[in-house]
Amino acid sequence: MQKMTLEKIAKVCHGRYFGNESAKSEEISMVTIDSRTVERNSLFVAIKGERVDGNTFVDGAYADGALCCMSEEEPEDKTRPYIVVDSCYQALKDMAELYRTLCPVKVVGITGSVGKTTTKEMIASVLSQHFHVLKTKGNFNNEVGVPLTLFRLRKEHEIAIVEMGISDFGEMTRLTKMVQPDSCVITNIGQCHLENLHDRDGVLKAKTEIFTHMNPNGHIYLNGDDDKLITVQSDGKRQITFFGNGKDNCVRAEKVENLGLKGTKMMVVTPDEQFEVTVPVPGKHMVLNALAAIAIGLDMGMTTEEIAKGIRAFRPVGGHSSIEETAHFTLIDDCYNANPVSMKAGIDVLSDASGRKVAILGDMFELGTKERKMHYEVGEYAVQKGIDLFICVGSLAKEIANALEKAGKETSVFYFAQKEEAMEMLPSLVKEGDTILVKASHGMHFEKIVAMLKEM
Ligand code: ATP
Ligand code: MG
Repeated sequence: MQKMTLEKIAKVCHGRYFGNESAKSEEISMVTIDSRTVERNSLFVAIKGERVDGNTFVDGAYADGALCCMSEEEPEDKTRPYIVVDSCYQALKDMAELYRTLCPVKVVGITGSVGKTTTKEMIASVLSQHFHVLKTKGNFNNEVGVPLTLFRLRKEHEIAIVEMGISDFGEMTRLTKMVQPDSCVITNIGQCHLENLHDRDGVLKAKTEIFTHMNPNGHIYLNGDDDKLITVQSDGKRQITFFGNGKDNCVRAEKVENLGLKGTKMMVVTPDEQFEVTVPVPGKHMVLNALAAIAIGLDMGMTTEEIAKGIRAFRPVGGHSSIEETAHFTLIDDCYNANPVSMKAGIDVLSDASGRKVAILGDMFELGTKERKMHYEVGEYAVQKGIDLFICVGSLAKEIANALEKAGKETSVFYFAQKEEAMEMLPSLVKEGDTILVKASHGMHFEKIVAMLKEM
């Protein structure tokens, strides 16, 4: 870790330091909020969560080698290095902002309504062919996850790829202040968190807050197939590269060949070159995610061979459109999350499968007041996609079933209010050789359906 002394930390967090004066000049080796990961000379930040109170682990953290603990509560033992702050969450942000200034690494910040984690993994897959890369672990993309990602920066890293997720105005400004990205990627502007952001214009406004603390000479990468993102204009200094399928995009896909569930072959065309790339996962949306990674790779001076190899090496994380052959079925496991954009993308992927196609679709949450209509629209979208059987689960997903029935699909639609009922009936509904899409918001816990199908 770059040099962070307890004195510097206490100062930047406006904290009160307790303990031995001489320890103030000592440096921490890492920052953690999980006492199980404490290492020698760690700073353990004791967060008081809803379920777990980190303060109960303070003694254990010292026993495991922590140099210092940070908390909103006064210490019981005032002889050990300890910093009291008003808010541990704010302190994480203050420390991360300072730490970022100590790390002279190029940072790529990624946001967008859908596809952040996938695009982050795709970019990492490409850039790691040539650079030493740090990337956000999993989905650590909020005001806690982003600081923890930045604290993992070490001298050897050349590029950091940081996922940044928000649900309200102002949040992105706080994230970008810490991240200070050199490059920014926005994957798309969808209908997420509308309870706070109201409509897609609100989403655009909130996401583009990412520019407020980015490098003034930085580079912006935008999905040029998105009607909201094409309205973004350069401030004159920062370069904008649009990627996508449309012919006006600077980095675009041509001669796109659908390989079914095996992915997509395409010719990548830029003002300077053309080269063939195979995206090893299905879906038009994956082509877009790949184009973002390709655009960045090219700007970082990578060869087209390295870039194509990086895209080929991409593997989806479980639950994020991962495709798995089980004993009886081909599963498209997309149970990690859902919203109208990704639900439609998942249906498109399923429609490319050969054989009988089954869609198990559940509720999508956090869609605001138009949530029923948005579910209905998913049903309307799915009508012409050649899906043989729909299993709709949950009170909102009833609207998907309604739309399908209205369009004359009643014989291929089964509706269940509860997941448990659906699981009971599932063995009699699916058949050997089916390709099955499993998709819903995380709160529906469709991973249980995935687990059941895997065991059948
Ligand atoms: P979160 O807000 O939970 O962090 P995210 O933005 O990181 O989500 P991913 O986890 O990458 O999104 O993808 C979620 C799902 O959306 C994937 O499983 C896939 O089905 C779909 N998806 C991925 N990329 C795109 C895209 N560019 N456009 C539409 N759908 C996409
Ligand atoms: Mg994510």
